[in-house]
Amino acid sequence: MKKAVFSILIFTSSICFGQEYIDSVLLKRSFSLANQIFIIDTHIDLPDWLYDEWFDVSNESNTGEFDYVRAKNGGLDLAFLSIFTPAKLEGSGKSKLKADSLITLVENLQKHWPEKFQIIKSTSDIEKFRETSKILLAMGMENGSPIEEKLDNLKEFYDRGIRYITLAHGKSNHISDSSYDEDKKWNGLSPFGEQVVKEMNRLGIMIDVSHLSDSAFYDVIRLSKAPVIASHSCCRFFTPGYERNMSDEMIKLLAEKNGVIQISFAGFFLRDDINKKSIEGDKHISEMLKDLNIDPSSDSAYVYSSNYWKEHPLEKANVKDVADHIDHVVKIAGIDFVGLGSDFNGVGNELPIRLRDVSEYPNLIYELLSRGYSEDDLKKICGQNLLRVWAESERISNELNK
Ligand SMILES: [Zn+2]
Repeated sequence: MKKAVFSILIFTSSICFGQEYIDSVLLKRSFSLANQIFIIDTHIDLPDWLYDEWFDVSNESNTGEFDYVRAKNGGLDLAFLSIFTPAKLEGSGKSKLKADSLITLVENLQKHWPEKFQIIKSTSDIEKFRETSKILLAMGMENGSPIEEKLDNLKEFYDRGIRYITLAHGKSNHISDSSYDEDKKWNGLSPFGEQVVKEMNRLGIMIDVSHLSDSAFYDVIRLSKAPVIASHSCCRFFTPGYERNMSDEMIKLLAEKNGVIQISFAGFFLRDDINKKSIEGDKHISEMLKDLNIDPSSDSAYVYSSNYWKEHPLEKANVKDVADHIDHVVKIAGIDFVGLGSDFNGVGNELPIRLRDVSEYPNLIYELLSRGYSEDDLKKICGQNLLRVWAESERISNELNK
C-alpha cells in the first residue's frame, strides 16, 4: 500500500453527504476504477430470496440488495451466490433437497436471462466471459449439511458448480462445530468432516471457514492441502470475544497457508457496540419466544422479531468501518490476503451507510483510495486475491488426481 495525500482535493471539490465531505473528483475516479477492476463478492444470499419468491433480477428492483442493473452500476463482475440451508434441516433428510432446489434457481437465472447472467465453474471460464457485459455467477454452499454423510454427494455438487462449502452454519453439524453453537460436540471437525476436507481438496472445492468454531478452523488449516477462504468474516480485533469473527492469530495462519479472508459488510460483525446490542436483542427475543411458547422457526416468531428490531433499531455502521477491517488485515497479514464477501441479502437492514447494496462498491473503493491504497492494491482486494486461492485449489486438485 502506497501512501498518498488527497486532502488538497477534498478542499477543492467537495460535496456534502450527511456529515461527510466527499471529494467529487476522487469519487468519479472510484466509479471509473470500479468499472475497470474485476470485482468479486464471495457471499450474496440471493437464491434463498428466489426460493421464497421469484422476481425479475434482470431489472432494477427494490427487492434485496442484488439485481443486474445495480450490480452493473457498482462494477460487480463475479458474484458467488449462496446455496444456503438452515441448521434446523440437519439430519432431517431435507437439506440436500433444499440445496438442489437453490442450485436449480441459479441455473434458471441464466436460462431466463442468458444475455445478462453467466454461470462459471472455473477460473479459466472467467477469461472466456469477462469481456461480455454479463454478470458472472458462481456458487458457494453455506452449510455442509446437504452432504448428508455421503462423500459422493460432494462430486454431484461439484458437477453442478459448487466451488466452496462453508462446512457448518448456526449449529454444529455432522461435519464440524459451529462458532455460534455452545455445544462443540466434535471439538473441531468430526471424523467424517476430516474426510470431507480431503475430498474437497481432491475435487477442487474451496473450504470456507466462516461460521466454524476456532478448533474446527485449526483442524481445517492442519488438514487442507489447498489454501482456504473465509467467504464472509470480519476481524475479532474489533469485536473481542466474538468467535464468529477471526482472531489475529487465525488470520495470520490463514495467510501463511496462502488463503484469504473476505470481509463481510454486516454492521454487527464490524463494530463491537452494534455486535453487543445485536446479541442482547437476540437473547431477549429468544427468551420472550420461550416464555410465550412460540416456535422460533414459526411465522409469528418472525413477526415478533421484526417488530422488536423496528422498535429497537441498531446503529448503522459506515463504509469506513469496512475499510478499517481491510486495513487491519493488511497490517497484520499483508495486502494479498483480504477480499470482499458482503453478505448482501443475508443480514437484513444491518448494512453500512454508503454500502447498502451492490451498486455501492465504488464508495468502498473511494474510502480505500482516500487512505492511500494504490490501483494494484485495489485489484488484489477486489478480486485477484480470491482468484489466486481458487486457481491454487484447481492446481492442487489436478495434482491429487494424477
Ligand atoms: Zn453466513
